[in-house]
Amino acid sequence: MLLSNIISLLACVVTVAGQISPTNSTAVNAQTAAAQACAELQSDLGSTIVEASGAEYNATSQGPWSLFNSLDRPTCIVYPRTATHVQLAMASIFQHKSHYAVQAGAHSPMIGWNSINDGVLISFANMTSTSYNPVTDTVTVQPGVHWGDAMAAVEAYGVSVLGGRASDIGTGLLLGGGISFISPLYGWSADSIKEMDVVLVTGQLVTANATNTYADLFHALKGGANRFGIVTRYKLNAIHTGTKDNKNWFSGIIVYPGSSSVALSKASARYIREVTDPKAVVILNTINLTAVDANTVYLFYNGAGLPPGIFGDFLSIPRTSQTLSPLSYYDMSNLISGAARGNGQQFGASSWVGDESTFLEGYNHLVNFTQTFAADLLSSYLIISPIPQSQWAATASRSPNAIGDPGVAYATINFNLIYPTGLTIRPKDVNNGFKLLLSQTPPSPGLPLYVNECDASQNVFGTYPNFATLQKTYAKYDPLRFNVEHTVGPIGL
Ligand SMILES: Cc1cc2nc3c(=O)[nH]c(=O)nc-3n(C[C@H](O)[C@H](O)[C@H](O)COP(=O)(O)OP(=O)(O)OC[C@H]3O[C@@H](n4cnc5c(N)ncnc54)[C@H](O)[C@@H]3O)c2cc1C
Repeated sequence: MLLSNIISLLACVVTVAGQISPTNSTAVNAQTAAAQACAELQSDLGSTIVEASGAEYNATSQGPWSLFNSLDRPTCIVYPRTATHVQLAMASIFQHKSHYAVQAGAHSPMIGWNSINDGVLISFANMTSTSYNPVTDTVTVQPGVHWGDAMAAVEAYGVSVLGGRASDIGTGLLLGGGISFISPLYGWSADSIKEMDVVLVTGQLVTANATNTYADLFHALKGGANRFGIVTRYKLNAIHTGTKDNKNWFSGIIVYPGSSSVALSKASARYIREVTDPKAVVILNTINLTAVDANTVYLFYNGAGLPPGIFGDFLSIPRTSQTLSPLSYYDMSNLISGAARGNGQQFGASSWVGDESTFLEGYNHLVNFTQTFAADLLSSYLIISPIPQSQWAATASRSPNAIGDPGVAYATINFNLIYPTGLTIRPKDVNNGFKLLLSQTPPSPGLPLYVNECDASQNVFGTYPNFATLQKTYAKYDPLRFNVEHTVGPIGL
């Protein structure tokens, strides 16, 4: 299909698809639809851009971080080099009513969110550039870049981006909201987006920003995950963090024995409730089970040391080991790679205000769950990421995201299960037990869940204060509900 034919094709597609009810459309044979889309795309784009086998195809399909997603075999993989390629892919997927998935950094552990069988996978593995424009003071990233590489590309200019806290994570983080090490100072990662190029389900390409015709779409994309279109370019505000030689942060990585979990849960609750200094950052990882029983806390302060008035509770708990050093933001963002693969992974989310009893009860529920299913799990983590009010205040000066400020300091809670190496199917009873755990550890009243850390069964969008607006925007940009019926992602729209 030639680009010049896109407009007429889209007109035709809308007419045809408009005659088909959602129920009929889901009945279309997935294999046939995907085979038709792939055959058309191979003929239009050629075999280096559309692959159905080979080394690159194998590397991409086997590349997801969670082993469960690395077992799928897409009917074909499209490797766009330009937004036009994505337009053509999406137009063909839409016309043939094929199922599809999009893969950027491949870190989502939710089953099928970045992988597919009997469908088309769009992989951004060949769109990975990063550039800094000193005139506009913006960093433009293509969707296939991993944050470590994006930061390395612009570090010499003394600037960086609000990427992930693990260097291997990709840009899909932005569409969920995004928690970076400097979010307490600068806001959610998504709030640093100035502009996005977006391919809608029909194949139409639009540019969305906070003030143009697509301002509603721009808002929805920042927390709406993979539901609102395929982003082919992100223009981000540069953050003036200094170069890698500017060691203007102080870091403490402290490892505690497993027996410290209760003290750490209490310290975390208090930190969340009381600490308002946006220069302070904490992430707490509690690991339970089998071979290892330990807790790691990452403490950072934008200054020359760790102020005892802020971190005193963590510094007074007996520890196994610690590393204390000055670091640059660049160093911090490369402390954790997150690249290790080979195990099935599962996430579940909650959000808690800084209340000791909520933390202790939640922690005890996780311990009970983990002990019940000890034979089926390699380990379980509780990862606590504080979201201070300063994170929302920084957002308020830019355009808001879809998550919505609940008006109180809280923490996102990520339950992360790691399954034993080689286990390819999640045991049903563990799944049921995990759902029970999530029901036992609900969000504190009024708090939104974090979509990048949720279980696929959780209705995260329903917890956003402005859920009704999100629904309206979805209905406007995808009136045939093509996305929710043809790609796996967050439920609830
Ligand atoms: C080890 C690890 C560390 C993490 N650390 C952090 C952290 O510090 N902060 C944080 O906020 N989160 C963190 N996360 C969660 C992470 O943000 C999410 O898993 C995120 O979705 C990963 O994005 P990705 O591009 O790597 O993954 P992918 O799986 O490729 O993408 C995630 C989702 O977004 C969709 N998507 C990706 N790109 C596009 C696009 N261009 N257009 C439309 N849809 C798209 C995909 O289809 C998929 O559904 C971490 C996760 C892991 C596994």
